[in-house]
Amino acid sequence: MHKNFDVIVIGGGATGLGIAVEAATRGYQTLLLEAHDYGKGTSSKSTKLVHGGIRYLANFDIALVKEGLEERFYFLNNAPHLAKKQTYLIPFYNYFDKLKYFIGIKLYDYLSGRKKIGRSYFLSKQSTYTQVPRLKTEKLISSAVYYDGNFDDSRMLITLLRTLEANGGIALNYHQVTDFIVENTKICGVQVLDKLQHVSKQFFAKVVVNATGTLTDVLLNQAEPAQRHHAVSAAQGTHLVFDKAIFDSMHCLVIPKTSDGRILFVSPWHDKIIVGTTDIAVDNASIEPKARAEEIDFILETLNRYAKKTVTKADIKSVFCGQRPLVSDPKQQSTGKVSRKHQLLETANGLISMVGGKWTIYRRMGEDTIDYAVAKNYLPPSKSVTRDFKLFACPTTVDHNWLGVYGTEKQQILDLQKQLNNTAKIHPDLPYLQAEVIYHVRYEQAKTVEDVLARRTHAVLLDAEAAQQSALIVAQLMAKELGKPQVWIDEQLKQFSVFLEGYMLTQNDAGGGNNASGG
Ligand SMILES: Cc1cc2nc3c(=O)[nH]c(=O)nc-3n(C[C@H](O)[C@H](O)[C@H](O)COP(=O)(O)OP(=O)(O)OC[C@H]3O[C@@H](n4cnc5c(N)ncnc54)[C@H](O)[C@@H]3O)c2cc1C
Repeated sequence: MHKNFDVIVIGGGATGLGIAVEAATRGYQTLLLEAHDYGKGTSSKSTKLVHGGIRYLANFDIALVKEGLEERFYFLNNAPHLAKKQTYLIPFYNYFDKLKYFIGIKLYDYLSGRKKIGRSYFLSKQSTYTQVPRLKTEKLISSAVYYDGNFDDSRMLITLLRTLEANGGIALNYHQVTDFIVENTKICGVQVLDKLQHVSKQFFAKVVVNATGTLTDVLLNQAEPAQRHHAVSAAQGTHLVFDKAIFDSMHCLVIPKTSDGRILFVSPWHDKIIVGTTDIAVDNASIEPKARAEEIDFILETLNRYAKKTVTKADIKSVFCGQRPLVSDPKQQSTGKVSRKHQLLETANGLISMVGGKWTIYRRMGEDTIDYAVAKNYLPPSKSVTRDFKLFACPTTVDHNWLGVYGTEKQQILDLQKQLNNTAKIHPDLPYLQAEVIYHVRYEQAKTVEDVLARRTHAVLLDAEAAQQSALIVAQLMAKELGKPQVWIDEQLKQFSVFLEGYMLTQNDAGGGNNASGG
């Protein structure tokens, strides 16, 4: 591989992959480096909403909402196999709330302008009950339904990875940037540790971008050791996953008022229900944070205020937790009130960092970053093409079963099934085929059992116990494909088992910190 690039992007989450795709589709030689696996950080642990953020209207963050609504349109258009229109239902229990939300959702419709994806409407008490039969009807007046999107975050990352590669870019997972190379006081490259081969490498570029989410300050401080950067604050959010039956509805239920003044979503996702999230400031950012016991209690208690039949811990199929990389705002006491805007920073020696934002606007963050590098003459001019750029394997008609997430690549998996003469699934309770595991290794850079079960499929998020039971067959299939010995299988199973503890209730239930502000 050549070692001189136009752009090096550090970080394989939504921000980094968005920037890398933007650069590659404009014709720049692009390299992306990810320390773990794509989406190992926050980007596979979102609430899966493609949204303008109706909640931000309460903070009068109109520009932010408008930007999100515009990007929502491109997001849904460019990856229809991974993102779809979703109805969101807000129940009303008093007339003041009804008036407040009437104004809110009509403003939300209005701000969508020509990028509108549906018109909001109201439902009577009886219709609300029919459409969300598990909702408590005591004191219910009526409800409103508005439109936003819902998407598959970790498959979206893999699709961005494939889009990058299809446009001449290179991405390497398990490659951690350990230092910067400086020439004439300017950063011109990076020192990298290949964590699987245990070797050091160097790569050079005209532009180096730091897109490392909650870990942004680590690289900023490495680039400028004399400074103490505090560009990003981390805020933790937890989700609980249940079988669809606990709140079966075509709508995503929006619990409009939690005890800490937030919104809780009860969202249908891949035949399960995801409920979340919390918002807790954390001092030490972590790539793999653990849910706290009080976050789990808080979500359950809030849900049960609205659920006709009590939902218990025994119903939980999985727990997952991520940390938001927010632009630091010392004026705000509560992370829930910190704006979700994005911001570009450049150090004196030329490291460009993209911080804040949200998944929905990943494309815009990419466009802004590359526009900035062009404006500073670091790159020759080239216009953005990503607004109407269909992502890799984008189908003309969307398939609504699990294999639909692969778009036109679905056929490759079916062909592989035939070639391997293997039509078996990895687990009876999961939709994933054994042939998919081979596909993940061959075409999607899956290197570990965790890569397959947590981010190429959603076994870990949807049913942690089934994921645990699938680990052996996945390890065996991978070992055969990669030519690895039995000791590799044993090591993978050990590592996966430790990783999975964070997603299973038994551990979370027993543990927990003591400074949650969410509950
Ligand atoms: C609980 C929760 C719910 C959310 N829900 C939504 C939602 O519904 N909709 C929405 O639009 N947004 C949502 N967001 C926001 C969105 O998920 C984040 O803004 C986005 O995922 C951040 O992406 P990122 O690429 O900046 O960070 P990350 O995904 O964390 O990526 C950073 C990457 O950098 C890598 N890295 C770090 N250091 C190095 C190094 N030295 N070398 C190489 N690589 C390195 C890490 O391994 C990591 O993979 C949510 C966030 C949270 C926490």
